[in-house]
Amino acid sequence: MNSEHHPLGESLHLVLGEKPAKALAKAFGMQTAGDLLRHYPRRYEKRGELAPLASLEVGTEVTVLADVISAKTRPMSTRAGTIAEVVVTDGKNHLNLVFFGHKKATNAAPGLEKGKRALFSGTVGLYKKEHQLAQPQYLLLGADGEEGLTDDTAPNWAEELIPIYPATNALRSWDIAKHVRKALAWAAPLTLPEPLPADLLRRHKLGGLSEALYLVHRPKEWAQAEWARKRLRWEEAFVLQAALAQRRAANRALAATARVPAVDGLLTAFDARLPFELTAGQQEVGETIAAELARTHPMNRLLQGEVGSGKTVVALRAMLAVVDAGGQAALLAPTEVLAQQHHRSLSAMLGPLAQAGTLGGDERGTRIALLTGSLSTAARRTALLEAAGGEAGIVVGTHALLQDKVDFFDLGLVVVDEQHRFGVEQRDSLRAKGATPPHLLVMTATPIPRTVAMTVFGDLDVSTLTELPAGRAPIATHVVPVDVPRYLERAWERIREEVAAGHQAYVVCPRIGGEDAEEDMTPEALEGEQEKRPAAGVLDVAPQLAEGPLHGLRVDVLHGRMAPERKDAVMGAFAAGDLDVLVATTVIEVGVDVPNATVMAVLDADRFGMSQLHQLRGRVGRGKAAGLCLLVTGAEAGGPARERLDAVAATSDGFELSRLDLLARREGDVLGASQSGRRSSLRVLSVIRDADLIAEARIEASAVVDADPQLRKHPALAGALADLLDAQRADYLEKS
Ligand code: ADP
Ligand code: MG
Repeated sequence: MNSEHHPLGESLHLVLGEKPAKALAKAFGMQTAGDLLRHYPRRYEKRGELAPLASLEVGTEVTVLADVISAKTRPMSTRAGTIAEVVVTDGKNHLNLVFFGHKKATNAAPGLEKGKRALFSGTVGLYKKEHQLAQPQYLLLGADGEEGLTDDTAPNWAEELIPIYPATNALRSWDIAKHVRKALAWAAPLTLPEPLPADLLRRHKLGGLSEALYLVHRPKEWAQAEWARKRLRWEEAFVLQAALAQRRAANRALAATARVPAVDGLLTAFDARLPFELTAGQQEVGETIAAELARTHPMNRLLQGEVGSGKTVVALRAMLAVVDAGGQAALLAPTEVLAQQHHRSLSAMLGPLAQAGTLGGDERGTRIALLTGSLSTAARRTALLEAAGGEAGIVVGTHALLQDKVDFFDLGLVVVDEQHRFGVEQRDSLRAKGATPPHLLVMTATPIPRTVAMTVFGDLDVSTLTELPAGRAPIATHVVPVDVPRYLERAWERIREEVAAGHQAYVVCPRIGGEDAEEDMTPEALEGEQEKRPAAGVLDVAPQLAEGPLHGLRVDVLHGRMAPERKDAVMGAFAAGDLDVLVATTVIEVGVDVPNATVMAVLDADRFGMSQLHQLRGRVGRGKAAGLCLLVTGAEAGGPARERLDAVAATSDGFELSRLDLLARREGDVLGASQSGRRSSLRVLSVIRDADLIAEARIEASAVVDADPQLRKHPALAGALADLLDAQRADYLEKS
């Protein structure tokens, strides 16, 4: 909450005093009363009911309500002091707690006696194969333990639900509860601006903001908490959709140059060269795009589709239409590898049509320039000149394209590939390079459910390619458990068989490896990291394979730490068929297109998300031959990690996997996980569960913005939008 005039914009120092304010700032980056009051409980406990202990996950921060069933204190064997072993239960499952006492302490866990009930908070560990909390913090429920809370805002937990907050080691759930109660008391006499229109509140029977904030933190019963959360969900959905509606409206007000392709020009020549028929979907989306490019305000379209559905051809045809009309197109890729590959494959698809000005070039043709961070000075100068002079009809690049020095002669279309790694601002900065705003086409790597698209890309119109080109053989996916050596041997054998048949293979590892520690793990892999055993690393696996099961095959490696020229050389060699097996990290995840590759083994597959695995396996089976994907894992059969892999093996529907992934990530963590309390504009809203609400909010918000684009009659809403944009810039849209 950054707006200066909002009553909840008051500094936490003034509301709570210096010490708590500092602690909250340190733990969660909170500055204002609003930041704290918007830190909603992740769930509630009822005094008389215990939370299930069965679903605790190792490595997560949890707060649980449980009963002590035994407590033993004994002297430590190796040094002075005591050790207390306490066992607690939810009535069904047990959890072990261990406390280490100081030298003179006689009891390391005072007050924890058989029969006592308490909140326990700590990180779930594993000791002798059982879950354990070492040195957990605890709050005894009962007259003694709750003594610290005797100020006039103290809860009566016999009457109220116990809120469980995202917490840290230093700031426990019950500390936060105490601060929140104080902030609520402070806020009680204030009148808070209401961002939701009055008639919307009435029609949907939603409560006001003050009431909702009070009840979300201090409900007496579930119904009150649910009622408060419903209103807060509406608020999140409505404010977000209003922001997106405003962006759409602003876009509609912009002027753009209409790009109408020349009859019988480059696009026609290209279509005549295409070795395949466009699918019905490609044709239809192509027509939509052509119509929008011909209009005088900018196209703003998201092209999403199943992995392998042929988005690149659609984008290329849009670029050619613009070049035909005398303009230029820029293609922005998230990684250097991908930019290089696009450059290579667009050049190949266009053939002589991409060699304008050279002997053998087609007279209707153009040139494709590549602009990445690692070019030599000379190559860079040439690319810059071709972009600025207009000789290059198409400029492919990475972030380097966003730099000020890069000028275009007449930029008519920006295509952003695999958008989820680009922020809105980066999009905007490229668009600013046109004399008039260029048209925009965004392609997503991962198919995402409709309401997610509506939320994350809500300012874009959406086209979806659902069908795969005809004749595509399906990809068979199997889970290969490492504890059955025969299966793993068989996996390597399958790779040898494919290579013997003239095909190629990928082996994907979660880490780069070598002498490194954990630094080079991908964030995804780190997130999944729970045990101490490091995941498979490219630099360790490649030599083992080359000397062992894949002996005699041409094996090379590809990872993010390699010099760009090396990467390009290896990728080029693989594409040309000069390598049999590529051992790589997820640098090959998106977009890499080598149709002759037919088999992929993913090592430690459980370290990857479901969408990511789907994306990865999309690298095989891209030609006529059937694809095979082997998910190698040490995850226990029946466990959650293994279930995710089984789901990937069982379905080839990327939209469904993405939905499951999102469910697992944002809502599946009922008892802990991601308690980091990272600031996000979506706190209670779930893009999956609240799909209907989001769709409704979109209609409502669009109506309000269309009637009053500047929101002059809705100052509180306008303020909320400003706050949202501030927060978002740093947050949600960038990451998702
Ligand atoms: P993605 O949607 O995953 O980006 P691509 O655009 O990379 O997919 O296309 C996957 C492969 O399918 C490429 O080799 C491409 O040349 C080929 N392809 C695209 N459209 C068709 C089509 N209509 N018929 C046959 N092959 C196609
Ligand atoms: Mg692609």
